[in-house]
Amino acid sequence: MLPESVASLPKAELHLHLEGSIQPGTVCALTARHGVTVTGDEVRRRYAYQNFSEFLETFKWVTSLLRDPRDYALITHDLAEQLLSQRVMYAEVTISIGVMLLRKQRPESNFEAILAAAEPEAAKQCASKSIVAFGIGGDELSVPTKELRPVYEQAAALGLHRLIHAGEIGGPEKIREAVELLGAERIGHGIAAINDPALMDLLADRRIPLEICPQSNIRTGALALQLRRVVARIEDHPLLALFRHGIPIVLSTDDPAMFHTTLLNEYEHAHQLGMTENELLRLAQMSFDFAFERKNSRTAV
Ligand SMILES: [Zn+2]
Repeated sequence: MLPESVASLPKAELHLHLEGSIQPGTVCALTARHGVTVTGDEVRRRYAYQNFSEFLETFKWVTSLLRDPRDYALITHDLAEQLLSQRVMYAEVTISIGVMLLRKQRPESNFEAILAAAEPEAAKQCASKSIVAFGIGGDELSVPTKELRPVYEQAAALGLHRLIHAGEIGGPEKIREAVELLGAERIGHGIAAINDPALMDLLADRRIPLEICPQSNIRTGALALQLRRVVARIEDHPLLALFRHGIPIVLSTDDPAMFHTTLLNEYEHAHQLGMTENELLRLAQMSFDFAFERKNSRTAV
């Protein structure tokens, strides 16, 4: 069981998708709002995947239910409550602008609704409500990294931090390219690094964190893919090896509702993988240390 000193600690979460945090009950509320009947059981069936592309299909399905700013307000309120109940004091929440544009929505209106919904919770104890970073997720193999360079240059010129999902289902070269070509400051997942010792050294030396989401990697089949196995289990996750190599790790849930997990659950996994109490405390601190909005950081433990 997770030591109480770790469980009770205030936490930060840096790799978290708003659209992946919609609990089945809320999905039903959204569908009812739009005149469609979907049962909780049906949502739970959809929230199970054989592979990464099936997960992306469900992600697209769930985002198709987000049709106006009120929907975004509803899911933001729910996520804020989930975070506060776990003592998550700081969260960097990814919002998929691409799906809004695809559906001809005004991202500005949705964003206003998101901020207004987060405000009462933020007033309690959450931190920043501003846009701090630009990132790309999804099928990392669909576009050569160098083609993303202009958009990352624009993001940097706007003063945004740069993130990317890399080495989730792609190879270690995708991580290296993200760092070298795009100036990525944190890597989403990056578990492919385990297959490239020189890259592990580079990430450790340059203090580039991996946003590790263990349950996500199991549920999407990404870990099995990286380990070249049919099935991978939590016990097979390279979290501990990457951490003990000196690579900064920020532990996260990715899409907690869609992967049936919570941040506390992920700390349980880290503990189960053999992390000592001291290592778990360091791990929790790292999510504050590598946050882009630092003024609310806790002091070191
Ligand atoms: Zn993600």
